[in-house]
Amino acid sequence: MDLHERLLVQVSARDVYDAVALAGHPGSGLVFTGQAGHDAVRMVRRRGYDGPLLADRRRYAGSARVRGTARLSPDWIADQVESGATAPLTDSGYIGKGDHEALHTILEQAAQWEDVIAVLPVHARWVAEDRTSLMRTVTDYGASVALVVEDGPPYRPLPFPLLSAGIECLGALAHGAAWAAVGVREVLRHLYPEPHEARGGWRRGGARSAFVPERLEFVPVERLGEGTCGCSTCHGRPLRRLAEAGELEVNTHNATTLHRLHNRLLRSTHRERWWRELTESALTA
Ligand SMILES: [Zn+2]
Repeated sequence: MDLHERLLVQVSARDVYDAVALAGHPGSGLVFTGQAGHDAVRMVRRRGYDGPLLADRRRYAGSARVRGTARLSPDWIADQVESGATAPLTDSGYIGKGDHEALHTILEQAAQWEDVIAVLPVHARWVAEDRTSLMRTVTDYGASVALVVEDGPPYRPLPFPLLSAGIECLGALAHGAAWAAVGVREVLRHLYPEPHEARGGWRRGGARSAFVPERLEFVPVERLGEGTCGCSTCHGRPLRRLAEAGELEVNTHNATTLHRLHNRLLRSTHRERWWRELTESALTA
């Protein structure tokens, strides 16, 4: 089993009981987030889930995040291997604007293990002005990497796997990334800059947003517009009904509609063009 062209669903380690319902599609898989991520991997494996499973410690996020120069933990790597993770992810810290030292320190340390994926949580400038430098450095190390991109202006997709992404997960896959993970809830679809100021539109974890395929957007359920959904959860009912639905049902709709798009992407003969046309038509929707 490998990660090739997979669209994974990134959940919290606490979501272990519901997670499998979100990742039953062929081409899917799960990323468990947090310090107990590997325990969730073990539990889901024991229950017979045979899709890809990853564990993202996410030391790079939040007000207590560590810098990318921090020492990577061999115990964290070993715990993932022993729990049955598909490939171990490093417990990297954050790589700030222009912080080459952090980038090199992570890649340097990751090189000591075979088959690990170096997690690179980067300031938005790394995928804009500094993208050539980022790509060259990753290529020089010959490393297998996964990016987490901090909130910033829209950017042209890179051919690298993504963790904790929103709809950019499909952009990355269309541009040649081996796999990508979409967050099941708002906080797992973003890496917020620190210090983080809670803005009007942002609420903590529990807030439910539904994916609207025509707009390529996650919309808070109270603000869903007209329109119906033909996914296997909604059965052609109005999308608005999700305002009354539980979180698992909203997330099942999200996973199902995203995987339909993922299937279309895999079938398209020119994936970058498919993605460009899709994003253009979403702008006019
Ligand atoms: Zn639906």
